[in-house]
Amino acid sequence: MVRTPNIVEYAVQYFVNLFMHVLVMYWMVLVLIAIVVGVLVAAILIIKATKTPARDIVGMDITCKKCGTRTNGLACPKCKNKSQSFGV
Ligand SMILES: [Zn+2]
Repeated sequence: MVRTPNIVEYAVQYFVNLFMHVLVMYWMVLVLIAIVVGVLVAAILIIKATKTPARDIVGMDITCKKCGTRTNGLACPKCKNKSQSFGV
């Protein structure tokens, strides 16, 4: 005797299939969003790292610690003159 599935079984199977598809789609969308966010964060970090001067990463001051004049890592001319005049 061949068992014939009735309409309820068909409906249950259909909805289970539909549910699984929706679940997989949601999961894929979530994974896609996670990948996009990850790539964006990585890109921002890389851009920040490349835009930041090497001196800042190393931790050297590009401004004078005493007077705040921008020295780009060189000796401050103001403070250098001052200390020299003090030395004399
Ligand atoms: Zn200075």
